[in-house]
Amino acid sequence: MTDDELRPATLAVHAGRLAVHGAVVAPVFHSAIYEDAPGADYHDVRYIRLNNTPNARSVATAVAALEGGEAGLVLASGMAAIATALLSVVRSGDHVLASRGLYGGTHGLLTVDLARLGVDVDFVDPCAVGEWEDVVTERTSAVLVESISNPLIRVGDHGAIVAFARARGLTTIVDNTLASPLNFRPLDHGYDLCLHSATKYLNGHSDLVAGVVVGSRDRVLAAKKVADHMGGSLDPDACARLRRGLTTLELRVRRQNATALTIARALARRPEILTVHHPGLPTHADHARAAALLAGAGGLFSVEVDGGGEAALAMLSRLRLFRRAPSFGGVESLATRPMDTSHRGVPEAVRAAEGIGPGLVRLSVGVEAPEDLLRDLEQALAR
Ligand code: PLP
Repeated sequence: MTDDELRPATLAVHAGRLAVHGAVVAPVFHSAIYEDAPGADYHDVRYIRLNNTPNARSVATAVAALEGGEAGLVLASGMAAIATALLSVVRSGDHVLASRGLYGGTHGLLTVDLARLGVDVDFVDPCAVGEWEDVVTERTSAVLVESISNPLIRVGDHGAIVAFARARGLTTIVDNTLASPLNFRPLDHGYDLCLHSATKYLNGHSDLVAGVVVGSRDRVLAAKKVADHMGGSLDPDACARLRRGLTTLELRVRRQNATALTIARALARRPEILTVHHPGLPTHADHARAAALLAGAGGLFSVEVDGGGEAALAMLSRLRLFRRAPSFGGVESLATRPMDTSHRGVPEAVRAAEGIGPGLVRLSVGVEAPEDLLRDLEQALAR
């Protein structure tokens, strides 16, 4: 059986298996260096920093199989994946079209670091591609979007984005962290490079930081050459733990999809909540697109608490099962105010324009019993 014939739950367990001495559980190869073939190319030399030693290859192959890509590259963080992917595509003088509402770190990378290198960016609405014509320039070389944005869980118009980019020869890069390959596979929709903060759903246990880039063999090789020089490789121990985390991806995400939707529906009926931002609800602006494109909306959504910042902070302080922490995609449920954490790096005016204000609370739903999570939220909301 080839990987193409296997379902995601099976790939999550078996893809990229390291078969050594019959061990059912892959060993961790701590060796920093490996013997090479005479005359090997520099990029073929196996060395942990070159992201090509057994545990790194195993996890990169597994994620590539789950995303339906030819090749994958595992890196030291999601930010390393984003920086590497971008630097493999853009050069000084280029212009990037990036979606509004990006993760704060990505926003900072574009507006501070890449700006300093002579790459400029315009932020565009991923749900209104018709407007992009006004900002695309002859210097535009790349499009960077998130398949599902956070914390408002907007679902971009991916068919239109890819068509727009292809018509102009732009390279498309998509951060698929929130969706995970279980809910959306960007390469199937024509994106060129897909990347993840593997810190989130792919690992699923909030106990490591990692990133992955997936795409065609040529594009991933170009990214690897950048990564080899940047030096952001992932340690073999973390690679092995990430590979183990992946084995339960399908179970976790299926459960998180269902629990988050159940809780979102229940919260939408609460008088203390003004708005629930979950695309599974008919009131969400991208409900129809989410139904058409996604297998599920994931475990992350947000709510606007009546009473603004004070009410939101009071709710957060009363939660017992939901831990007050940023990040998402783990087995434990978390709650945070994006303006304080994930989007703190985004200028206040930009945050306000995007609807990320003091009353907005983001919930990351884990794998606990839905009834318990809902009771926790209800007691935290009750005044
Ligand atoms: N992409 C998204 C959507 C994120 O939310 C994050 C982090 O929260 C990142 C990328 C960066 O990932 P990492 O923290 O693994 O570098």
